[in-house]
Amino acid sequence: MNRKILIVEDEKAIREMVVFALSRHGFLCEEAADVREAQERVITSVPDLILLDWMLPGMSGLDYARRLRKESLTREIPIILLTARGQEDDRILGLNSGADDYLVKPFSTRELIARINAVLRRSSPVGEDEVVSCNGLTVDLAAHRAFAGEDILNLGPTEFRLLSFMLTHPERVYSRSQLLDHVWGGDAYVDERTVDVHIRRVRKALEPFEYHKYIQTVRGAGYRFSTTIN
Ligand code: CA
Repeated sequence: MNRKILIVEDEKAIREMVVFALSRHGFLCEEAADVREAQERVITSVPDLILLDWMLPGMSGLDYARRLRKESLTREIPIILLTARGQEDDRILGLNSGADDYLVKPFSTRELIARINAVLRRSSPVGEDEVVSCNGLTVDLAAHRAFAGEDILNLGPTEFRLLSFMLTHPERVYSRSQLLDHVWGGDAYVDERTVDVHIRRVRKALEPFEYHKYIQTVRGAGYRFSTTIN
């Protein structure tokens, strides 16, 4: 699956150079010239990583990084700060804002790609080719198959993505809109009730094996995958 990178940079020439380089390396690119545009893109569809220029008109990249870290929807998006400033103090300030890495302009395309790949690897320990298992409930992310013990679970593609997401992010509550973002990719035409429908289908598939208890409703908040039964 192609990873989506949001490039927030007010200098058009740099933005275009970055988009060109990333596209050639198989990344999907979204562009924003300031924080307002960036926030619109993020709300529409959560990117896999944000390349964030420090000096932007209006809100600075540094302040936006802090804001992204405060909100549950965006807390886990990896951020690489782009800046002309390379002093030690700036570097520390940048990383303290919540950025995962820091790239000083001018940078080479090679360095940019290497840093992006490194940050993506660190931030997503669950690779595409992994098998994740919990008490005998298993998802094979490469084969797109889920198992209860040795039995294949009969799941549609959306149910499979939903179960995979929840199984790989256990013990955390996700709201319906967060699940829409992570599982449906923030498709604006999907209603929040859709999440309930698919949750029901996943539970139904898990029920013969007693795993449906792991998909828990958290009143007023959303859903959680947990092996702790209340
Ligand atoms: Ca700038």
